[in-house]
Amino acid sequence: MSRVSPGVVSGASYTALIKACHEGGYALPAINVVGTDSVNAVLEAAARNGSDVIIQVSNGGARFYAGEGLPDAHRARVLGAASMARHVHLLAKEYGIAVILHTDHADRKLIPWLDDLITMSEDEFKATGKPLFTSHMLDLSTEPLEENLATSASMLKRLAPLGMGLEIELGVTGGEEDGIGHDLEEGADNAHLYTQPEDVLKAWELLSPIGTVSIAASFGNVHGVYKPGNVQLRPEILKNSQDAVQKATHSGSKPLPLVFHGGSGSTIAEIDAAVSYGVFKMNLDTDIQFAFAHGVGSYVLEHPTAFQHQIDPGTDKPMKSLYDPRKWLRVGEKSIVERLDEAFEILGSKGRSVARTS
Ligand SMILES: [Zn+2]
Repeated sequence: MSRVSPGVVSGASYTALIKACHEGGYALPAINVVGTDSVNAVLEAAARNGSDVIIQVSNGGARFYAGEGLPDAHRARVLGAASMARHVHLLAKEYGIAVILHTDHADRKLIPWLDDLITMSEDEFKATGKPLFTSHMLDLSTEPLEENLATSASMLKRLAPLGMGLEIELGVTGGEEDGIGHDLEEGADNAHLYTQPEDVLKAWELLSPIGTVSIAASFGNVHGVYKPGNVQLRPEILKNSQDAVQKATHSGSKPLPLVFHGGSGSTIAEIDAAVSYGVFKMNLDTDIQFAFAHGVGSYVLEHPTAFQHQIDPGTDKPMKSLYDPRKWLRVGEKSIVERLDEAFEILGSKGRSVARTS
């Protein structure tokens, strides 16, 4: 198996990592981060599990990373994503694992966000031979297929010379994330939540000759965690898509790099099925948000006085050591790390890092 240098992958090391996932029958968790706390928790968890990992930022997460006080939302989204990427470039090598750096859902109105980030990657590539990000996602799944694919093709043409990939979405992931997404209609057949294998084949035939493309195909997956029962997960759609492409292109098994959105709250059996059908990236956002909140929340409930008084009114003791943000933020970080221990185990990536210092 090919080995890659620790740090952020692109070009040949990116495709080698996808190939290692497919050949090894495992997937990497893709975690939405919002600041250095969540980034460092993800790197720590990946290192201690000996797994490579995907770090991604949504447009809202990028804006938060830059600071909610910045008045220009577009500038904040661009600079916040760049700041996150630079933080990861600087530290990932130190943790000894390979990292895919990615941006999450961007619909048509967010194309200027990606355009500015790609310009930054072009500048970075000229200066260092490496882009700023490994890949971006362009989610035009609510538009007609032809428009989705034509715009995706023109973006991929800009990314390919930088060794960068594009994730597209076909069919609609239910629920919404950062204002992008679709409502579930209760009682309806929700057919728009299930991707047609013919559409996947069409996308693959157009985009794969241009560059590295990955596909978020919808099989009833939903963003966020809801009560079960509204939609049925049908991972066999992924298998049918792989089969359609394999038959038409006479390629080896699992030609498509597939992405599983809305994975929080899925059962182990559903995840196993999806990974066995060629999912190499499983997004985790909601469960990680909850892990962080649960850790911090438990700490606050345990030490309520320290969050209301600097000196304990009962004992006159200073409580600085309890309200120091490093204390409770660290509890949140550890809670993320523990949730990710489970994810690496379930996705089968534990101990499979391809990173090696030569
Ligand atoms: Zn998603």
